[in-house]
Amino acid sequence: MPRTPLLPTAVLAACLHAAASSASGQQLPAVDAARLIADVAVLAHDSMEGRAAGTEGNRRARAFLARALAETGARPLGGAYDQPFEQPFDWERGSGVNLVGAISGRGDDSEVIVLTAHYDHVGVREGQVFNGADDNASGVAALLEIGRRIAVDPLEHTLIVALVDAEELGARGARAFVAEPPVPLEHMALNINLDMVSRTDGLLWAGGASHTPALRPVLERVAARAPVTLRLGHDRPGAPEGDDWTQLSDHVAFHERGIPFVYFGVEDHPDYHRPTDDVERVDPGEYVAAVQTILMALRELDAALPLAPAPR
Ligand SMILES: [Zn+2]
Repeated sequence: MPRTPLLPTAVLAACLHAAASSASGQQLPAVDAARLIADVAVLAHDSMEGRAAGTEGNRRARAFLARALAETGARPLGGAYDQPFEQPFDWERGSGVNLVGAISGRGDDSEVIVLTAHYDHVGVREGQVFNGADDNASGVAALLEIGRRIAVDPLEHTLIVALVDAEELGARGARAFVAEPPVPLEHMALNINLDMVSRTDGLLWAGGASHTPALRPVLERVAARAPVTLRLGHDRPGAPEGDDWTQLSDHVAFHERGIPFVYFGVEDHPDYHRPTDDVERVDPGEYVAAVQTILMALRELDAALPLAPAPR
């Protein structure tokens, strides 16, 4: 029996504080801090057993996410949210499953934005549950909150939301998504990928502009107003080992197909890929500021489409 996820009262108190202090004069998008933290607490609970692809804990997380996705107002693409995919090579744990929905835009539907976040993590190792609160319950809960906001105040373009599986095994869910896309790839104007967005320590990275220079002025406009330091980078080919994050998360699948991406994420921290990546270590104020920034960026990017092609 899974234990019932509980939200520690200390976390709740911190949420309320975060909600109050984020409105420091400037107009920031509203986000539900308590809901964000509550969703991370569910996904990063021991009962989810670290959400490794193909496991019972992963399936349990997916059942929660299908309900949460339905609540956002996103409609399933292709009959159901669940989009199973076969593994490309020897994998005994069965198929992976992406969850895919869409929120219609107000206007032109010839181009769509695809918002991705992986919900799998690395599971249980030597009896220790790797809860993956920042990696990547934070990106998943952010995607859900953004979905709820966009559903009531839509973008110009349709937003496809994809909670992808098996990122930790090499962006397999994202690669399956682009291999059998719900809309033709040439209609995908942009991928926005969220992977580790809560533990900012005041600094959030946006990658992708080195590959698509037209993104730079848009992201710089966002950075000027953001409630967190938003820095562009970690996307230069030929950078020292580990400094270029282009290959390191689901956006790589879109990049490989020539689709521009913006990756939002934080620097590695001491709990990265350790059993201590727990919800208690997420600072609600930092997390809320990151989600507000991503929501601002999403709206700016939506307004900026179509992007000028990269110079050759
Ligand atoms: Zn991750």
